Amino acid sequence: MSTHKGTIGVTTENIFPVIKKFLYSDHEIFLRELVSNAIDATQKLKTLSSFGEYKGDLGEMNVKVTVDAEAGTLTVSDHGIGMTAEDIDKYINQIAFSGAEEFLEKYKDNANAIIGHFGLGFYSAFMVAKKVEIRSLSYKDGAEAVKWECDGSPEYTMEPTVKQERGTDIILYIDDENKKFLQQSEIDSLLKKYCRFLPVPVVSGKEQEWKDGKMVDTDRDKVINNTEPTWTKKPASLTDEDYRNFYHELYPGQEDPLFWIHLNVDYPFNLTGILFFPKIKNNFEITKNRIQLYCNQVYVTDSVEGVVPEFMMLLQGVIDSPDIPLNVSRSYLQSDSAVKKISGYITKKVASRLEEIFKNDRSDFEKKWDDIRIFIQYGMLTDEKFCEAAMKFVLLKDTEGKYFTLDEYRTLIEAGQTDKDGNVVYLYATDPVAQYSYIKTATDRGYDVLLMDGQLDSHFIGLLESKLEKSRFVRVDSDVIDNLIPSADKKAVDMSSDKRAMLSSLFRSQLPKIEKAEFIVSFEALSPEANPVLITQSEYMRRMKEMAAMQPGMSFYGELPDSYNLIVNTEQPTIKKIIEAADSEVMPKIVPLNAAINESDEKIAEIRKAAKDGKPGEDEENQIKHLEETATHNRNESEKEIAAYAATQPLVKQTIDLALLANGLLKGSELSDFIARSVKLL
Ligand code: ADP
Repeated sequence: MSTHKGTIGVTTENIFPVIKKFLYSDHEIFLRELVSNAIDATQKLKTLSSFGEYKGDLGEMNVKVTVDAEAGTLTVSDHGIGMTAEDIDKYINQIAFSGAEEFLEKYKDNANAIIGHFGLGFYSAFMVAKKVEIRSLSYKDGAEAVKWECDGSPEYTMEPTVKQERGTDIILYIDDENKKFLQQSEIDSLLKKYCRFLPVPVVSGKEQEWKDGKMVDTDRDKVINNTEPTWTKKPASLTDEDYRNFYHELYPGQEDPLFWIHLNVDYPFNLTGILFFPKIKNNFEITKNRIQLYCNQVYVTDSVEGVVPEFMMLLQGVIDSPDIPLNVSRSYLQSDSAVKKISGYITKKVASRLEEIFKNDRSDFEKKWDDIRIFIQYGMLTDEKFCEAAMKFVLLKDTEGKYFTLDEYRTLIEAGQTDKDGNVVYLYATDPVAQYSYIKTATDRGYDVLLMDGQLDSHFIGLLESKLEKSRFVRVDSDVIDNLIPSADKKAVDMSSDKRAMLSSLFRSQLPKIEKAEFIVSFEALSPEANPVLITQSEYMRRMKEMAAMQPGMSFYGELPDSYNLIVNTEQPTIKKIIEAADSEVMPKIVPLNAAINESDEKIAEIRKAAKDGKPGEDEENQIKHLEETATHNRNESEKEIAAYAATQPLVKQTIDLALLANGLLKGSELSDFIARSVKLL
């Protein structure tokens, strides 16, 4: 072969400036590309040898990455199949493609996409090098060593050279902007990132040892990778310890994982990997230690959106598949049907593994439940298929710390907690301390109360209500006990509407002004032993406000005041006394006022009725106006009378304050007034 000059076969004018200009963000992946090529060449030769197509001695089959800071070169060497001049011409010189410019413009920020699309792996070297040299000796009998050289213009030279060892050296003359790739430490960290699990030993730099008070290089080559990572082994050959060790190898400094799942498929696609359920202490760890995606043990990325269902982002570990089109854009990945299948498969596998753990070791599953709950609930909320599978093993925990499956729990409460309409009522608490008295009232009644204090529980409750037939979730403090699970034989309060209105005003007049809180007074005939006054918060309004806090679009509900029900227990002895006293002392003063108000109202109605076409004339309008003013005046008088009377009855305020106190709503001066009043009442 004589010296040969030529022009690289690209249809675009000049590919190199394009590569340099556009591929600025991911410069470092050149090393992954070159080392991967070297590994491929090595494995190809091993394969040929095993088929008897290569009869020579394989020798040492590693890949070496050498930094020579003085010469300004970085060299990737292998002892693989090598290339003849014809090979170089075919694989390196002819990079023909069409529509290049358009494509490059579209994906200019995604080096992966460009490199993958064109099979430009080798050419990524020009992102960091001003000149690249290939020195290669093919494994083929009688092959001649060849040297190829290119300075980043489309012209290259190719000539015979002297090379004793079989294989290829790729020598990069690093350009001025990329000098950092001439530091061993930089290369070490890149190799650690991209090559730590490659199947062929990759050596770079020297092992160090402690000598005379400092670390010094030895003459032993440093192997940077684990060529047989745990996920490539057969699950049956692995112990729990092996999995834990591998987890710590991936994420040093983490606590032991809770569970793991070994993935292993070869049809209809190839995929292996291990997913770990971490013990999550904070969100920072989730974003830092993510699932890593590999392609034949080459690290590709840790942004696995699209490949793995969204909820599994909470997991850690590795996925390795040669079938995932790695070098394409994210949106393409998400619409790819092979990728969708993979995602579906992983979901199924994770669900069935969880079910298996649940079935085989229920107590262990329960022990870890609090840690994995967020993951399972998130999965159920976002993935229909996973939800279906998880209905079998998702657990509910009650305020006594007992765990139940959905079926078990329904069986437990069905008999005692079904309301008059046949709905099974699931009582729950979100804060066992603050809601203690409500929980106690319910459990004393023989009801069971669930503990729903997780981050996702409010959404999860909504999900369960939509999945479970004839079921309702009600927070224990959202109503008085008799109303939580209404039965048919409830005792109604027997009171005239005048009296009810008077008592309502009586209690309302003694309510403190609490910012952003609104009270609706009502009367219930509860048991005489129950508290005189109770405060509850409507389940519906509370949920709306909780959701508003999480979703910006619902701010309307967030603006609303908290609305509470103030429930007066008409059977409680103190309340009975208050009612009797008010009945005899204020009622007589109110009755004539009420009568006057009624009279005004009746007259207004009459005038309206008599008016032609229902449209009162000017005279009539004036009359109505006058009557309305009289009624309003009388109403105010009535309110005043009631409030003046209520102020003389410390027990009214006392019973209200007790209820406020029980709900943590009594604060500041109201609280000190309450204490002073209590002392006086003693
Ligand atoms: P790809 O690896 O995607 O095919 P590259 O541009 O990285 O694209 O490489 C083109 C081809 O050049 C490879 O397919 C291979 O045939 C050849 N090649 C590259 N590097 C080596 C090497 N170190 N040893 C042998 N052949 C190589």
